[in-house]
Amino acid sequence: MTDTTRETDEPSVDQTPAQRQTPDQHRTADQHRTPGQRRSPEQPPSTGRHRPPGPDERGADQHWKVVPATERETERPRGRDLRTNLAINIGRMAASLSQRLGLGSGGMIGGRVALTLQPDLLQRLAAGRRVVMVTGTNGKTTTTQMVAEAMRAQAPAVSNATGANMLDGHVAALLTRLDAPFAALEVDELHLAQVTERFEPAAMLLLNLSRDQLDRVGEVRTVAASLQRALAQAPGAQVIANRDDPNIVFAASDHPNVTWVSGGVRWRDDALNCPRCGSFIGDVDRDWRCQCGLARPAADWTVTDTGVLDAEGTHHELALALPGHVNRVNATFALAAALELGGEEAAALARIRRISQAAGRYDTVRVGGRKVRLLLAKNPASWLEMLDLVSGNDEPLVLVVNSREADGYDVSWLWDVDFEMLRGRPVQVAGDRALDLAVRLRYAQVPATVASTVEVALGGSHGGVPDVIANYTAFRDVLTRSRR
Ligand SMILES: [Zn+2]
Repeated sequence: MTDTTRETDEPSVDQTPAQRQTPDQHRTADQHRTPGQRRSPEQPPSTGRHRPPGPDERGADQHWKVVPATERETERPRGRDLRTNLAINIGRMAASLSQRLGLGSGGMIGGRVALTLQPDLLQRLAAGRRVVMVTGTNGKTTTTQMVAEAMRAQAPAVSNATGANMLDGHVAALLTRLDAPFAALEVDELHLAQVTERFEPAAMLLLNLSRDQLDRVGEVRTVAASLQRALAQAPGAQVIANRDDPNIVFAASDHPNVTWVSGGVRWRDDALNCPRCGSFIGDVDRDWRCQCGLARPAADWTVTDTGVLDAEGTHHELALALPGHVNRVNATFALAAALELGGEEAAALARIRRISQAAGRYDTVRVGGRKVRLLLAKNPASWLEMLDLVSGNDEPLVLVVNSREADGYDVSWLWDVDFEMLRGRPVQVAGDRALDLAVRLRYAQVPATVASTVEVALGGSHGGVPDVIANYTAFRDVLTRSRR
C-alpha cells in the first residue's frame, strides 16, 4: 500500500567534505553516550534547545552546497557476523529485484526478507546511530521528513520516506545506508513498543492521537496505553510530546525527559474524558486538569501564527514553504528534535523551510491536464486541519473519499467532520463514497456536485488552482495518475 508513494525528489543537501563533521563533534556533553546506551538518572537531559544562533550561523545557507543524493556509503559492513551480513545483502538484493520488476519501491520486501534471516537485525542496524522515532495519528510522514532534513544539516540521515512504518520498513530504511549516523523513522502508533523492546531511540516524537480507522486500529485509549508502555521501555530517550493532547500527556507524563510542544488542538472529541481515570475533562482548549492529577504541562515550545515561542518567550520565525498551522506544529517538533541531537537552529530551519511536499502531500501536481494542490485527510482530525487550510482561500475545491481496506471500510466518521466550515461554498465530490459524502454535505448546507472521477470533478470547477482533499487510497490514486 505504500508502493505508489515516492521518496522526495529534492536533492540531498550536504556539507562539503571539509566542513563535514562527525556527529560526535556536535554533541553536547551528555550526548556523548553511544546511541542505545541509557542515560544514567543523574545525567540531566541535553540542553541543546533554546540557544540563539551564533554569529557564524547567520546566513547559514552559504555554508551548504547542494549535491545530488548519489553519495554512496564508503564503509562496507565490517565486524558483523556472517548471518547479519547475509541478511543485509539478501535484503538489499530483494529490494533491488522488487524495484527492477516494478513491484514497488522494494523497501518492504527487502526489510521483511532481511528480518526473516536475522530477527535481531533492527537493533543491530540501529546500534551506533542516533535514531529519532516519529509517531502519532496525523503528521508522521511530513514530520519525519522534516526531522531527516534537519539532521542532514549535521550528517547523513536515512529515513523511511516511502511510509513503510513498521519494523520491516525501519530495517529497509536503515539498510539503505549503513554508514549514516542518523535515522528519522516514522512508526505506526501501535508499533513503537516493538521498537523500544529492541533498542532505545535517541528521541521519540509523540504528535497527537485521535480516532483513525476504528475498525482496524482500535480505540484511542488502547493506543495511548501502548505508547506509554513503549516509553517506559526507553527511559533514556528524549521524548518530545504534544502537551495539548490529553492522550499524549497520559502516554508521556511518567517519562523522565519530556520536551512539551504546544500547538493547540482542533479535534477534541477523543479527549473529552481523562485517559487515566475516565473523568470528564471538558474543554481541553485551555489549561485542562483532571481530578486524578493529570494536567496540561508547561510548554517548552508554543506554536504561534508565524513561528514558535521558546520557553524564555523568544519568538523564532518559521517561514515554511509548507502551508498552515498544522505544519508549523510539525516543524516545531522537528526543530526541537534537531536541537536535542545537537543541531544548529539556523541550519536545521533552513532545510525544514525548503520542504515543499512530503510523499505528495501539499504538492502541486497535474491531474487531467489541470494543475491542482493535493491534500491528504484520512480521519476526522486531519479533515479538520485540511478544511481549515482551504477555508482561507476561494480556490475550487474537490473532495474525494474512498473506503477500501487501507482507508477502513467504515465511513461513519464523515458525520464527525465539521463540514459546516464550508457552508455555502460549492464543492465537487468524487470517489467510491461520493454519495455518502454528498449526503453529509447536504446536511452541512454545502452545495455539492457528484462527479464520476476526479478528472470529471476538475472539469466542472473553474478558475484558480483547485485544492483536492482526498483520503488515503483516493490520494494515492490521484498522485499515481498525476505522475503518468
Ligand atoms: Zn483523570
